[in-house]
Amino acid sequence: MSVTVRVPAKVNVQLGVGGLRGDGYHDLANVFFAVALGDEVTASASAPGTGVTLTCSGPDAGQVPLDGTNLAARAARLLAAHHGIDADVHLHIAKDIPVAGGMAGGSADGAAALVACDALWALDTPLDTLLGLAADLGSDVPFALLGGVALGRGRGEILDPLPVGGTFHWVFAVADGGLSTPAVFHECDRLREESGTGSTEADVPTPDADPALLAALADGDPVALAAALANDLQPAALSLRPALAATLRAGTEAGAIGALVSGSGPTCAFLAKDAEAAEAVAGALRESGTCRTAHATRGPVPGAAVLAH
Ligand code: ATP
Repeated sequence: MSVTVRVPAKVNVQLGVGGLRGDGYHDLANVFFAVALGDEVTASASAPGTGVTLTCSGPDAGQVPLDGTNLAARAARLLAAHHGIDADVHLHIAKDIPVAGGMAGGSADGAAALVACDALWALDTPLDTLLGLAADLGSDVPFALLGGVALGRGRGEILDPLPVGGTFHWVFAVADGGLSTPAVFHECDRLREESGTGSTEADVPTPDADPALLAALADGDPVALAAALANDLQPAALSLRPALAATLRAGTEAGAIGALVSGSGPTCAFLAKDAEAAEAVAGALRESGTCRTAHATRGPVPGAAVLAH
């Protein structure tokens, strides 16, 4: 018996980063947007006493840890512990989300494993409880359960779904090698210190969602959304990986109406005016030599969900 769950990657259409807090985190105003590029996690019943075992396939499979640190394995153990049962399951991750790419791939697999194990073990855990377990796993995990578009506050784990008036067409340019999210936040703090603004809570205003961005989403207006895209981590990602500037330029020259680094990078995200334009931008990016590959996709799409057998 097995259950397969499909889960989306995310792009942050707005990522406002506040000052460094005393606890080492930053307050964020984070507008998450779920896209059709995603992973599939299959949970299969295994014999009592085998614990959680993992396999992974896909272009980046070699970079995915297959030990107990994998977020999918941690999710399975957390759900089992919550219900007081043994976590005996085999998880297979069919991975299309770039690893360490700023698209929350590990978090997506954690959310998918929660949903897959919940169905496999017939636990019927209420969504609110799953969201609480997801927040314990990591600040991007609850959004992967919800999908759609949502405003995240705090560390990103307090979520409010947002209305969206249509489908948007995206292109993702995948870089060679990842960027560490903590390293990018650290570089953001360093650049703020260097520029003289300061990097602490006292120096940086608390970020808030941009009303123009929320209106563009609600209207389903790609040109307005393109104009409002904003990522406070982009200067830090570009500082650590200067070659990303050429990727952003290549996509814009190929007709993208908006371009930004996705989350902490190094994946670059481009907004296109329609599906045809997205295919053209993806093709041009693949030819440009400025990225490993490029995918045209769309969104928003729903969060982690069981696939029909
Ligand atoms: P975010 O956008 O949330 O900062 P990311 O997309 O940049 O994350 P991930 O792909 O989630 O990065 O991976 C970050 C690190 O997490 C990886 O380098 C890997 O060591 C670890 N990891 C744990 N579980 C997974 C998983 N299921 N898939 C990929 N990486 C995982």
